[in-house]
Amino acid sequence: MLLLVAAAVWLLIADRSSPPTGTTPPAGSAEPVGDELQPPSAAEFAAIETMLSEHGAALLAHDRAGWQQGLDVGSTSYLQQQRQLFDNVARLPLVSWRYVARSAVTDSAALTAATKRLGARTVILHVNLDFALRLVDPAPTSKDLWLTVVERGTSWKLAGDSDAGAAERSWRGPWDFGPLLVEQGRNALVIGHQSESSQLGSIAALVDRSIPIVTSVWGGHWNQQVLVLVPDSAEEFNAEVGADEGADIAAVAAADVVTTGGDVLGARIVLNPATLMSLDAPARQLVVQHELTHIATRASTAAATPRWLVEGFADYVGHLDSSQSPAAAAPQLAAEVRAGHVPADLPADSDFETPDRLNQTYDEAWLACRFIARRIGQAALVRFYVTVSDAARQNQATAVTVGLHRVLRLSEPAFLAAWQASLPGTLSGSPTARPTSSASASSNAPSRPADHSDRRG
Ligand SMILES: [Zn+2]
Repeated sequence: MLLLVAAAVWLLIADRSSPPTGTTPPAGSAEPVGDELQPPSAAEFAAIETMLSEHGAALLAHDRAGWQQGLDVGSTSYLQQQRQLFDNVARLPLVSWRYVARSAVTDSAALTAATKRLGARTVILHVNLDFALRLVDPAPTSKDLWLTVVERGTSWKLAGDSDAGAAERSWRGPWDFGPLLVEQGRNALVIGHQSESSQLGSIAALVDRSIPIVTSVWGGHWNQQVLVLVPDSAEEFNAEVGADEGADIAAVAAADVVTTGGDVLGARIVLNPATLMSLDAPARQLVVQHELTHIATRASTAAATPRWLVEGFADYVGHLDSSQSPAAAAPQLAAEVRAGHVPADLPADSDFETPDRLNQTYDEAWLACRFIARRIGQAALVRFYVTVSDAARQNQATAVTVGLHRVLRLSEPAFLAAWQASLPGTLSGSPTARPTSSASASSNAPSRPADHSDRRG
């Protein structure tokens, strides 16, 4: 009801607006009549599909004239934005770029507004942009756009991507946020902007160093070529991550979908360069190895895999090759345990959404995984991860019990008691505390930059 009222009010305002002054109004600038708002006929849809196909092919072929042919010269700001996009992607190793028309938008308010603006037969389509970058994308990843197409003479032209309404917002890629620079590492493809140009090389080197560490634990059955995005604004960071994240997030691992064949599509690490680069070297290494682990394990991770196992395993790999002792790496939890407050249970999923004790939550998860690896070996920890994830697909409530029984031959209470008993010793002061600035680490521990793994699909 509210929506109908809002739409009606908008139309009243729109009706009062004047045609552009000083020029002859375009032929179709009057209020669109019913026929003009009809969904596209089969012939129109086919003609638009052909245009979209040629438009995508032009970008892939670096054919600027061909690309511009698909754009409506009357839609000035969109035209400008799309010309810029063509230049922005110039250095990317794209191997696929395709627009696939899905369905026509039928919202009459949106169609009326777009038709009035363009003054001709207008169609708004839900379109998938399917694109792939060399090596890092085993198959194209698919993103939702809502494109406005207008009939000019005998051709259809693209005239906008924001006419479908607030609920159907076109996805924004890194190319929508300015010219892109590319740093091709051995295994990392790092994409960023001019403002981070001096950091892209060191980021690629860091990711290149970290990938073999992840593989040494998890094995080689994942795409060890990884896309890293380095946005230069909070707006771009949120667009790449698909959510509003806080500025204290150093990095996020995201993926769109896992195919039935086990390929992870749209996998990427999105860095928050200001936060990441403010960390010391061990913390940076931890963050990168942690996020890479999320990508490596993505195909084997179920939506119902307990967060403590997902995050704890990523931290387990993240801490490998670190010179820090657990007491130095987890100072807040160490202080709690020294004061006699041993965790009563493994962290619940909801604990990872609670800012209080977030550092301790991650560290409890890490130390639970570390305890398993020390007790039965690293390979068995991997087996435990896969077993629990498989079991969680059937029954989330019993998945950990199943994993503990099959892999550790322990009941959950017995495991919990053994882990709790291990914590005071694990977190006691250790001579292997990290060699530099251990005082600052214990007295004023930097807040561990939290991350989120995108576990859709
Ligand atoms: Zn994580």
